[in-house]
Amino acid sequence: MIYLDNAATTKTAPEVVEAMLPYFTEYYGNAGGIYKLGNESKKAIVRAKETIAETLGVEPNEIFFTAGGTESDNWALKAAYEAYKEKGNHIITSKIEHHAVLRTCEYLEKQGARVTYLDVDKDGIVDVEQLEKAIGPDTILISVMYANNEIGTIQPIQEIGGIADRHGIPFHTDAVQMYGQMPIDVPGCHIGLLSASGHKFNGPKGVGFLYISRNTRLRSFIHGGQQERGRRAGTENVAGIVGMEAAVKRAYRIMDQKNARETQLRDYLIDRILSGIPGAKLNGHPVKRLPGNVNVSFESVESESALIMLDMKGICASGGSACTTGALDPSHVLLALGLPPEWARGALRMTLSEDNTKSEMDTVVCELKRIVENIRQMRTV
Ligand SMILES: *Cc1c(COP(=O)(O)O)cnc(C)c1O
Repeated sequence: MIYLDNAATTKTAPEVVEAMLPYFTEYYGNAGGIYKLGNESKKAIVRAKETIAETLGVEPNEIFFTAGGTESDNWALKAAYEAYKEKGNHIITSKIEHHAVLRTCEYLEKQGARVTYLDVDKDGIVDVEQLEKAIGPDTILISVMYANNEIGTIQPIQEIGGIADRHGIPFHTDAVQMYGQMPIDVPGCHIGLLSASGHKFNGPKGVGFLYISRNTRLRSFIHGGQQERGRRAGTENVAGIVGMEAAVKRAYRIMDQKNARETQLRDYLIDRILSGIPGAKLNGHPVKRLPGNVNVSFESVESESALIMLDMKGICASGGSACTTGALDPSHVLLALGLPPEWARGALRMTLSEDNTKSEMDTVVCELKRIVENIRQMRTV
């Protein structure tokens, strides 16, 4: 099997599993317990916050554990809307956000929010001038993702954060694709809220965090007990949190090497596809993109059929994103780039890990070439 869907999820690293195990078997105490066993869990949670805070240049008490990226995005947007709605109802985001942000914005529109969806250029970079112009006295939140999950384009977050800061508007970034892949300087980018998810960087699924800066007013999201300083109730997912911490340590340890390797493989795969398969096009920015992201469209080829044929050859790839696979609609991200629907329907996303090899890339190109030819032939008969 050749696994090329690391933007959807990654393999849990063995050292992550190993770090988690004692928190099922030995240290199973409730972190709220006053006995020693509970204290072990509590200490583990505190340690994890310290580890994560250090990677971002923030304080441990600004890290709040959640059940993943989707929850973090929901919390950031819904709670910011609630906290700032006396000031205004205007939210600015982009057209290429993950559905965890877009669907939440649609929900908030039903509650009375006015949402501006910023355009992107042909490579998927947000229109910063349009952002500046969209800001008004009633703007209460700017939410722009750090790196896109479909096309891998990395946004000018420092510039966007600077604008938000100058206007005194809280800035949220969905950094689920970025955190654990590349370094993030939270204070330097004036980020007030940041979402991340463990399973995107070899941690366990179902655990993530929301960074909430001291200066950002955000209320509780889940009501109940006093966990997470009363803002996110529910018995902590201690093993998950410990696993995510182990994944953070691993990710930062191998980051430079992993990125160098993936960038090389990525560019090799892109080159071979563009030069070897006629009617192929790269989607997303050629260099301002995540090290492991390849997104290509093939003219007159629907990704659905190509993905099934790839799967029969043991190659796991995806269409737009994991969430849109299965739907026949072309991806909202690719449409926002200005790609005609017939090209957008033929997009294939292949996202690499440090385990992939050059010979796997050769196999993929070889199979892909055959598959694309087959599909085109079937269409013409
Ligand atoms: C995967 C992903 C999410 C959702 O994270 P989960 O932990 O799976 O809920 C949100 N935003 C982006 C950009 C993602 O890639």
